[in-house]
Amino acid sequence: MALLAFLVAAAILCGFGYRLLRVRSGHEAAFHVMRCSACSQKVRYAPDRAGSTGLCPRCLRRLFLPETPPPLSKPILPCRVGERLSRKSA
Ligand SMILES: [Zn+2]
Repeated sequence: MALLAFLVAAAILCGFGYRLLRVRSGHEAAFHVMRCSACSQKVRYAPDRAGSTGLCPRCLRRLFLPETPPPLSKPILPCRVGERLSRKSA
């Protein structure tokens, strides 16, 4: 019985430890973040893609991905999650 209690306690502690590590090495830190110049959509990209171009997921405009992205500003346009602009407005 004591062994079972020990195993349960160990499993709970491992779960907390895993969560702690996950929060610390969050995905935001591993990616560069910038805003699209056309629609101000937040765009994330891996550091090894810096210096190349990519597409904005919202307005599909071609973006240059800088080595050091400018600090994030507030969105210029009001936007909703999942909303996609048409190509004409880009
Ligand atoms: Zn865009």
